[in-house]
Amino acid sequence: MAVHDLLEYEEGLAVGELRGPRCLDCERHWWPPRAACIHCRSSRTEWVTLPRVGNLFTWTTVGRTSLPDFRDRTPYAVGIFELPDIGIRLVGHIRAPLYSLHIGMPFTWQVDGSPAAAPPIVWQPHPKEVGGS
Ligand SMILES: [Zn+2]
Repeated sequence: MAVHDLLEYEEGLAVGELRGPRCLDCERHWWPPRAACIHCRSSRTEWVTLPRVGNLFTWTTVGRTSLPDFRDRTPYAVGIFELPDIGIRLVGHIRAPLYSLHIGMPFTWQVDGSPAAAPPIVWQPHPKEVGGS
């Protein structure tokens, strides 16, 4: 299956996994998905479940929106999360109090599998950050 086909991504969401492409030759990752490895141009690729923990690289606060599903949520934050073990960054919806956010803050992704979920993936503070172990 070609890596640019998002079927694997969507199938991952259906089973609670966030998946991304990985190169079978150089073993590196990239995002967003493309037909060939962006590092070595190999077309030998696979889909893997991405590491669950990412660090908040930066964020912005959305105060107004024209998206009907999000109107009741303003203000909310959208962030860029860095997955340091594999060197990629993902944009995602933050589910945390705005006052608690800081650069480098660890987050975990969570798939919201409900049919009306928008967006299907949200980022929540890592348990360590909120006083867990
Ligand atoms: Zn490669």
